[in-house]
Amino acid sequence: MSLLLLDLDDTVLDRSAVVRRWARRFFGAEISPPDLGRLLDMDAGAKIEHDEMARQLKERYPVASSVDDVSVALGEALRGGLEIDATVWTSLTTARERGWSTVIVTNGAVDTQERKIRASGLDRVVDAWVVSEAAGVWKPDPVIFQEAAERAGQPLTRGWMVGDNPHSDIAGACNAGIPSVWLHHGRTWPAELDFAPTGTAGHCAEAIMAIVGERPASGTG
Ligand SMILES: [Mg+2]
Repeated sequence: MSLLLLDLDDTVLDRSAVVRRWARRFFGAEISPPDLGRLLDMDAGAKIEHDEMARQLKERYPVASSVDDVSVALGEALRGGLEIDATVWTSLTTARERGWSTVIVTNGAVDTQERKIRASGLDRVVDAWVVSEAAGVWKPDPVIFQEAAERAGQPLTRGWMVGDNPHSDIAGACNAGIPSVWLHHGRTWPAELDFAPTGTAGHCAEAIMAIVGERPASGTG
């Protein structure tokens, strides 16, 4: 195996954990899923957007800080969410040193996803990326995995997929006929699904090292 396919959001880049932690600390409350989704879609450098979002958040969550203070803190959290975990960086570097090609396969808008890839520095540590909007095909369609393999110049049959979403990442890997590691993030695998990952892991770096170290990840149970 020599082709490592990786989902972006909540896999290589765990922005939702960073932003959720910030919101909990700042507002003393769990942030609602729609608010979290909107925060994750925001540009970490767009001050005007941050001011407007800060106004809205202040209306919805109990906080004494001024709109300005919320806005500044929000910008810091969003930029923090673009930093790659050091262990993930090391595992990606190790994978390449061991001869693996690394390709991000992500569903989403080209602008948003490429901005995250470049802002986080991921563009320096992966060989390529495929964004669904540009490819015109979305996970779990196996065609997007084929496209990723072609960009890496590797046969798809030598691939592994790592991702957190059962319906796009793991279903996609099954459709493409390649093994996968599911990042469970504390969840149990949905029993109603008639497919399953090859292995599970609690963290992206753990998944990558299990694959490139050619040790199997822990079973699904
Ligand atoms: Mg994901």
